[in-house]
Order: sequence, then C-alpha cells, then structure tokens
Amino acid sequence: MTVSAQLQRTHFVVVGAGGLGCPALLGLSAAGARRFTIVDPDVVETSNLQRQVLYSVAQVGRAKADAAAWALRQRIPAIEVDAIVRALRPADASAFVAALPPESIVLECTDAPALKFALNDAGLEHGTPVVIGAALGLRGQCIAVRRGVACYRCIYESAPQDLPTCESAGVLGVAVGLAGFVMASAAVSLCDPQQAAETTGALLAFELGAGSMQTLRPRPRERCPACAAAQPSRFPPLQASA
Ligand SMILES: [Zn+2]
Repeated sequence: MTVSAQLQRTHFVVVGAGGLGCPALLGLSAAGARRFTIVDPDVVETSNLQRQVLYSVAQVGRAKADAAAWALRQRIPAIEVDAIVRALRPADASAFVAALPPESIVLECTDAPALKFALNDAGLEHGTPVVIGAALGLRGQCIAVRRGVACYRCIYESAPQDLPTCESAGVLGVAVGLAGFVMASAAVSLCDPQQAAETTGALLAFELGAGSMQTLRPRPRERCPACAAAQPSRFPPLQASA
C-alpha cells in the first residue's frame, strides 16, 4: 500500500484539541489524513484563540471537539471526523485504546502528564502507536511510541508531582504550534514503513531560544513495566518489525 493510501485509511485519534491538537490536526489533514476522532472536554475561550489556531471568535463557548471537527470539515468536506466531548481519564486509557480499530494512531495532545503515561502504557498494551508531545516556555518535544524501542516511561519513569504547567510557566504560541506540527509529522511517518523505523523511539526536542533541535535515541530501560506488557503492533505497516 502506498503511504498516501495508508494515510487515508488510518484513524487518527487526537486527544486534546488545544495548543498541540489544533496544529496537529491541521498538519495531518494537510498531509492527506481523512479519518479523525477528536477528544476534548473543554469549550473554546477567548484566551485560547492566539495559539489554538483552528478557532475564531465565533466559536467561543462551543465545545472544542465540535469546533475543531467543524473547522476541519470547512477546509476538507470529505473528512470523516467524530467529536467526543469528554475528558479521557488516565484510568480509562486502556479501555479506550482497546476499543479503537486496528488502523489507529493516537496523538496525546493534552497538558496532563498522567494521561501521557497512561496512553503510552495503553498503546503498548494494545499494539496501537501513540505519539506524545509537550511544550513549555520555549521548549517542545515529541516521541512516537511502539513496541521494541524506548517508550515514554522508559525515559521519564513516572509523572513528577510538581511539573510546571502552561498556566504557571507560560508557553510561546510558536513553540506549542511547532510541537503540534512535529507530532503530525511523526504520525504521518508512521504510515510509511521505511520512515516508521526511524521515527519510533526517537525523542525529538527543540529549544527556540537557542534555535536548537535534537533527536535523541534513548535505550529501552530494563524492567520498564510498560515495555514488559507490550503486545505486537496492530498497526499494519509496523507488523513486520513489531
Ligand atoms: Zn518502556
């Protein structure tokens, strides 16, 4: 199957339709992705508009998942998109991923560290690739997780208690936008068997103040419980290497 055909078949599940999710959705749809589910419990607020680039003043007060789905359909009418207006709790991540069709890729686009770990674990447990991104201040990062390479929990072990948030520490709109597009790029490359091996397990990190972008390839950590529970990939292009 060609990469563009795989992109059109793949079901992209974007969890969080804020500063990361909006550019991720734009990047994926521009690349040719046509099947989406968007999960977000919040409504569009005026303070969101400068970095949550799918929304305008007219959508203030509307559920973000619905507003993002509408904005995608306005751009590309052939898009199939489901909006789920609820919070995905870490405790529900495993059941949520288990219920996804095989040709799914999850993008974790929230600012909730516990959910990043939960979706990392759930993706490995159910053989579904997960792209995890984050941005804070001038920094951003992205990792694509699958079985056999370092996962998010291999790198960070567990969520720290006192991690600063975008509310407490601030984030530059450009940084979160770039991180979202990097996530879209990583998810697109998972649809290309040649690229997927390069992308997964690589932590891409940038710092805009220094103008630096690095790709780190950490080793899988021994006794990582998420990797120990990992099942073979259900996502077709990755089956051969899973
Ligand atoms: Zn691991």
